[in-house]
Amino acid sequence: MKPVITVIGSINMDLITITDDFPQQGETVIGKSFETKPGGKGANQAVSAARLGAQIQMVGKVGMDAFGTEMMAMFEREGIQADGVGQNPDTSTGIASITISNNDNRIIVAPGANHTVDAAYITEFNEVIRTSDVVLIQFELPLSAIMDAIDLCAAVGTPLIINPAPAAELPDEYWLKAAYITPNETEATKLFTDVDVSVLERLQSKLIVTKGSSGVSYQEQLIPAYPVETLDTTGAGDAFNGALAVALAEGKDVYEAIRFANGAAALAVQKVGAQEGMPTRKELDAFLT
Ligand code: ATP
Repeated sequence: MKPVITVIGSINMDLITITDDFPQQGETVIGKSFETKPGGKGANQAVSAARLGAQIQMVGKVGMDAFGTEMMAMFEREGIQADGVGQNPDTSTGIASITISNNDNRIIVAPGANHTVDAAYITEFNEVIRTSDVVLIQFELPLSAIMDAIDLCAAVGTPLIINPAPAAELPDEYWLKAAYITPNETEATKLFTDVDVSVLERLQSKLIVTKGSSGVSYQEQLIPAYPVETLDTTGAGDAFNGALAVALAEGKDVYEAIRFANGAAALAVQKVGAQEGMPTRKELDAFLT
């Protein structure tokens, strides 16, 4: 039986332009190339977990536009159950406009439909959440929706992984309701440096801090990343979180789950692109043996 994971999160189309020069204010420049790629932390993590063999239920929103239709087709291709993805006719699908020039980038995110996911929408998925083995959430949705999802998971007892990216403050009691919290180093510093000592003590067994090519720190232990030739680290964190959810849903202990997720991310950084780089279960099993 496949473990069941619900991913509650953002769905974006990435619009990527490569150019020699960034335009100055009021200027137009001719770029070198343009492509669109499915993205958004929620969708990326759903793809990571689906390729590793879990049954994924995606909860989020897209617009009723061409990008929305493309994202729905992507979910179908990846075998992700998308009944929980609403198509909002009043706004656009979320996009990230990414301009890349000489290893530098400038990014504008227009969240569109992602920002119409509210607490009332999340509450519709109470039963989906209750019957999931694990729920995975990131911070690219409105905070009210995130807090509702955390409350629902706690109420029905479904383990929740919070990937607090991008970093946003939450009242302490919400952090305490998570099974695991997976910030990267920057997010961890921003969110947990000033937390009350007694709260921090209770968070120790929940905090899994990713540290790029160094690996992961958990309970004051460093679980090293796999040394690999890195081509593109975009989506490393998403590969990690999707894989961590799968391993925990399969009943692996947390150290084993972190090693499994480090493996998935190590394979992802050897390929260009976020979703393209996510490994299959076969590739990851071969890498880890
Ligand atoms: P990103 O924003 O690039 O998706 P992130 O900042 O969320 O990533 P990181 O801490 O950079 O997260 O990376 C997540 C995990 O990916 C690391 O804990 C590690 O397991 C793996 N990883 C990242 N970079 C490398 C690398 N160069 N080599 C091997 N593994 C890596």
